[in-house]
Amino acid sequence: SYRKGGYHAVRVGDSFAAGRFIAQRKLGWGQFSTVWLAYDTQTLKYVALKIQKSAPEFVQAAVHEIEILSTITENDPKNEKCVVQLVDHFKHRGPNGQHLCMVLEFLGDSILHLIRYNRYKGINLYKIREICRCILTGLDYLHRELVILHTDLKPENILLVSTVNPSKDPIKSKTPPILERPEGSLTGGAAVNVIEKKLKQRARRAVAKIAAERRGGAPEVKPERCLDGIDFTCKIVDLGNACCADKQIAEEIQTRQYRAPEVILQSGYSFPVDMWSFACTAFELATGEMMFAPKPGPGFSEDEDHLALMMELLGKMPRKIAIGGGRSKDYFDRHGDLKRIRRLKHSSLSRLLIDKFKFPETDAREFAEFLNPILDFDPEKRPTAQQCLQHPWLRQTAAKTVA
Ligand code: ATP
Ligand code: MG
Ligand code: MG
Repeated sequence: SYRKGGYHAVRVGDSFAAGRFIAQRKLGWGQFSTVWLAYDTQTLKYVALKIQKSAPEFVQAAVHEIEILSTITENDPKNEKCVVQLVDHFKHRGPNGQHLCMVLEFLGDSILHLIRYNRYKGINLYKIREICRCILTGLDYLHRELVILHTDLKPENILLVSTVNPSKDPIKSKTPPILERPEGSLTGGAAVNVIEKKLKQRARRAVAKIAAERRGGAPEVKPERCLDGIDFTCKIVDLGNACCADKQIAEEIQTRQYRAPEVILQSGYSFPVDMWSFACTAFELATGEMMFAPKPGPGFSEDEDHLALMMELLGKMPRKIAIGGGRSKDYFDRHGDLKRIRRLKHSSLSRLLIDKFKFPETDAREFAEFLNPILDFDPEKRPTAQQCLQHPWLRQTAAKTVA
């Protein structure tokens, strides 16, 4: 993907925006961009630099994301609404074309890391309440104040607010380049792979060297250690798929496992789709497992398995909802029963929490009472983020749960 129209290859020490930002290390990447930790020589702070691929469709997507991020930032001057803020944006010309770059506030690991570092065993309920409160604060802000749907809420897109300074001693722009692209005579896929491999090895060695040199700087903190910290806060990120509630473009939204039933059935969607994804995310935090992980099987599709899993856990879908979508006829008969998956193994959220995840009965009951209404098949009956924030489950204090 490091070719014309694709990613921009960054070297540690590269400077951006006429020398203002200096690349420090890669933080992550996605389908649209690579994201680098950068030092802002103007404010003397660390930022996250999201460097978009350069092809027109990616530029277009970045323009859209910048628009949304600007709205989010302008309307939250105190930075207290739990959604990532845009510091600046600029264009950067490189060998692969012109890249739109977003300068974002620097955040920490995603809560997916948190789940993984806890070896999929789930996280203490008190901490989950803290994270849920942040996510709901962010959703309430997007939905009620800005009329924006996120449409891709999931653990990967919730980042912890980093309390650790990456280093007291940022890499300066004069650092010799460590990731040069050799101008060789090699061409073709295999040759490119060899080059990529060598470049990666060299980059790794260089980064290891830099790391060794900076021993004595602030240590990187592993997520499991963050867990024992005090309060956690986190923020919603990746507004690349967000849209104004009245200007919906995509029919198929959301990452599969976090997708709401009305999206599968194509019954029209709005804010409640984010609430559904929120409930799936909260469940995953508490149990370490996805609430729904559908797979296609003999004689049925992934969508049908997904609907079946939902009904096994949440009860039968009301007939009116089941047969009311543009795609209902593909999956349901006129009685509102699935056409191709006939025998469902009914359970309930609290039973699952007790039997499979070994929750104490009270914890299971209280958590299920919080989640069940958000997983109503009827999107209009789901509570809003604002209503969820008032729920007694979230209002339990640390004293009560920790003791
Ligand atoms: P996607 O394919 O998910 O749409 P994308 O190209 O839009 O990806 P993002 O999801 O915004 O990119 O970012 C990619 C990764 O970079 C994130 O998963 C995260 O690990 C890291 N990242 C993004 N923003 C920040 C930030 N503000 N602070 C720290 N890390 C970040
Ligand atoms: Mg992402
Ligand atoms: Mg994105």
